[in-house]
Amino acid sequence: MTNQIDYVLGDVLPEPGTAIEVADGVRWVRMPLPFALNHVNLFLIDDGDGWVLVDCGLGDTVTQELWTRVLENHLDGRPITQIIVTHYHPDHMGGCSWLLERTPAQLWMTRSEWLSARAIRLDDTEELLDGIVAFYKRAGLGDGDVADMRKLGNSYRRMVGPIPLTFNRLAPDTVLEIGGRRWVVVIASGHSPEHACLYCPEAELMIGGDFLLPRISPNISVWWNEPDGNPLQDYLRFLDSLDPIADDTLILPSHDRPYRGVKPRAVDLSEHHDKRLDLAAQVCAVPSTAIDVMNAMFQRKMDAHQVRFAVGESLAHLNLLIDQGRVIRHLGDDGAWRYVAA
Ligand SMILES: [Zn+2]
Repeated sequence: MTNQIDYVLGDVLPEPGTAIEVADGVRWVRMPLPFALNHVNLFLIDDGDGWVLVDCGLGDTVTQELWTRVLENHLDGRPITQIIVTHYHPDHMGGCSWLLERTPAQLWMTRSEWLSARAIRLDDTEELLDGIVAFYKRAGLGDGDVADMRKLGNSYRRMVGPIPLTFNRLAPDTVLEIGGRRWVVVIASGHSPEHACLYCPEAELMIGGDFLLPRISPNISVWWNEPDGNPLQDYLRFLDSLDPIADDTLILPSHDRPYRGVKPRAVDLSEHHDKRLDLAAQVCAVPSTAIDVMNAMFQRKMDAHQVRFAVGESLAHLNLLIDQGRVIRHLGDDGAWRYVAA
């Protein structure tokens, strides 16, 4: 298990509003988040005259105030010249437009992540709320909870600043030269549509975004826009594809602390999902909704925000079980899917 993980800096964390060196030419900034997961890690790569920033934090005033301190005091007077956003989620993208206004930087993202950010940030339609309601009814959520989902609405708009009109595209074959070293863009799906990790083979460094977290497993969810999607399969394929990554690679993750031990961690994460798949299949020994499966997978009290992630996770496991031929589903008289062992 995780005892094969080596946290290279031990318990050391950057103080709020500071940046500390975590590897040769790479600094680490940690920003607070107002969730159960209470922080996000951002990284700055030394590029000579300036810095390449990877991820931005939220778009709230707390983050802006801390960024002001980092920009003034912790970058040796050199500007941020490029901003890379690994994926469109609020804790990575939220502060992007604010930073772009205060630096000479350009934005780099994959195309699907930029499109996702732009689409969800602009969507304040009733149609979206109706779609959210329909999705959670199909999952088997009760009327009161479905009403809460409608009320929660498009929470993305509240956490993320305007999405820039233009971006530079990160593609699967993109190699970025930063500070005289080559960083290979590794694109994978599962946690988000086209998430970018950055791998520098010569320095044995990988900025892993939300894909290779050392302790918690990244959220792998089905969302309302792609109800029959199979993101867990995408994610498990990514975990299987890490062979070319050097064993000693230092992983710089978006949450928790930098670590070595990516191969055993990938095995851990795969096994975690295998167990969850078996648990979901067991629940489906009798016809069950996604909510029944969720209640077996997450045995704790959750707020509406957490329920969204938990429903998504249970559907991700169910959709993979369907693909594997282990489970079938039919629509119940109440309008919710029932899943049962095939
Ligand atoms: Zn994320």
